[in-house]
Amino acid sequence: MAGKVNDSPAIGIDLGTTYSCVAVWKDNRVEIITNDQGNRTTPSSVAFVESELLIGDGAKNQVALNPANTISDAKRLIGRRFCDSEVQKDIKLWPFKVIQGSDDTPKIVVTYKGEKKEFMAEEISSLILGNMKETAEAYLGKVVKDAVITVPAYFNDSQRQATKDAGTIAGLNVIRMINEPTAAAIAYGLDNKSDIVGKINVLIFDLGGGTFDVSIMTIEEGGIFEVKAVAGDTHLGGEDFDNHMVDHCVLEFKRRWNKDLTGNQRALGRLRFVCEKAKRILSCATQTSIELDSLHDGIDLYMRFTQAKFEELNMDLFKMSIKTLETCLSDAKMKKSCIDQVILVGGSTRIPKVQHMLQEYFNGKELCKSVNPDEAVAYGAAVLASKLSGNTEKSVQDVVLRDVTPLSLGVDVKGHIFNVVIPRNTQIPTSMSQIYATTSDNQSKAKIVVYQGERSKCIDNHLLDQFTVSGIPPAPKGVSKIMVYFEIDANGILTVTVGITSTGKIEKLTINDANRRLSKEVIEKMVNDAEKYKLEDQEFEKKAKAYNKLEDCVYTMKNKIKEYNIKKREPSETMKEMENAIAETSKWLSDNHDAPFAELDLKKMHLKFVCKPLFRYKNTVAEYN
Ligand code: ADP
Ligand code: MG
Repeated sequence: MAGKVNDSPAIGIDLGTTYSCVAVWKDNRVEIITNDQGNRTTPSSVAFVESELLIGDGAKNQVALNPANTISDAKRLIGRRFCDSEVQKDIKLWPFKVIQGSDDTPKIVVTYKGEKKEFMAEEISSLILGNMKETAEAYLGKVVKDAVITVPAYFNDSQRQATKDAGTIAGLNVIRMINEPTAAAIAYGLDNKSDIVGKINVLIFDLGGGTFDVSIMTIEEGGIFEVKAVAGDTHLGGEDFDNHMVDHCVLEFKRRWNKDLTGNQRALGRLRFVCEKAKRILSCATQTSIELDSLHDGIDLYMRFTQAKFEELNMDLFKMSIKTLETCLSDAKMKKSCIDQVILVGGSTRIPKVQHMLQEYFNGKELCKSVNPDEAVAYGAAVLASKLSGNTEKSVQDVVLRDVTPLSLGVDVKGHIFNVVIPRNTQIPTSMSQIYATTSDNQSKAKIVVYQGERSKCIDNHLLDQFTVSGIPPAPKGVSKIMVYFEIDANGILTVTVGITSTGKIEKLTINDANRRLSKEVIEKMVNDAEKYKLEDQEFEKKAKAYNKLEDCVYTMKNKIKEYNIKKREPSETMKEMENAIAETSKWLSDNHDAPFAELDLKKMHLKFVCKPLFRYKNTVAEYN
């Protein structure tokens, strides 16, 4: 097969609930790209502060100071309705505000530059995706367009659509969306080819920051991946472990000083931040300490934390993950002995106790850790991205993907019974049809209501969309037939076509969950907004740089005067003028932290003009242009 030469490579992005990761295929291997802070994963957080928009580490680092305007967990909102019970539960836990927008869309409300602003989850996710895109661009030195983005296996159609929209808003061309466990399995499969003989069953144990997902898949020799069953807990992960540590510290503080920290949000935020860091250390050391100056009422907190204590605090949660794993096995009708490989995914699987418990559950079986657990998903996405954009290397071309529908899809039939058209776990892409008869005499219209889920009553499932076909020719009930045709593409996105068999009339609907799907215009507006925020950010950066340069300039000139003993070499008048200008600029700087770029530049030019004589003494000053 002839490979398309693509100048800018396609990237793989793992858009996580708490952390995201980006990777690319380069020089015959996958490269996990570090962000501008040197980190291989980036917090999926966005913060709106006085003068700027922070994404990633910058946002997470200041969350304690600005909780109401720091947004994490957008993935829990994306593609969902405001009245969704999960959303309602989450809202109660978040320090930021979420309101009901039109069509029951959840909107996140923040204060940005002194104004109230509303954002959709797609927009927040697009900022994170845009940041990952920039990280990749900085590394590759090229503009990146194409990307494979991963989503949890249980994501329904609207959640997938909305994630794709977020990619579009970020300026990405989403060439494929794949399930996270599938991506992890690709990463594993690529690294352990020789282990895959015939068809093997793998269990993917993904314990991340906020969620826990178990999937059972099969990998066939030659690289065919199939998801067999998924199970999980939407609120079990690293953040819960952090919270248990925080609770423990609060108790300890109370015991030592008889003071209650629970009302002090700032202190709790600072505590949570250091607890997460301590937790990571406890994955490779048996003890560490927590030190916080003036945590509450001027009292410092200094505490030792041992691995044993950490494990004791979280034992109940670790046990819960094993329970969920058992559910997944029984869903897949498999005994644990049927599992050939156990793949660790998610940052929290770095916790030694979690690994021990899992290994014990599988009777001492070695767990697969060949790819870093928190990078495996992005790794697999990068392999697929490379394959889809024409990489001809054998190892990449050998990856063949067969994914399945995570949930059943069907329509509402008489009595609001859910009639399945495509059962769950059907391989995609796929198409299936069903024929329905009219239910009353001379019925001229039929309402097609599309649901996704596993429950028998429609109301218990997820409503995707509905539409009405008209023009059914008059006939006694049961005579006219309507054909409903469901088609799912490789991204897991559904199109429904309905035809009246006697007339051949056809109506088509790409599941356009009217409440959830964004219109083209809205997407365009969001793309523009994203561009606008980017410009504002660049403006801020430009300003900050100019400020620093002017400050450096003042400092260097002051030093120069001292260093070269200029007072003795230049006429006193010139000297006075220079010293005045330096002192004045220095004061101006401390009074004008927020000065616009143009003023800063002007000040610098003026200072350099007055201090021109200094240029003769070495050209240090010349660099400040
Ligand atoms: P997500 O769940 O968003 O996909 P990750 O899989 O990257 O994200 O998991 C992030 C979680 O992993 C965070 O709670 C983080 O604190 C935790 N984590 C990362 N590294 C370690 C480590 N070395 N030990 C324990 N927990 C870790
Ligand atoms: Mg993850």
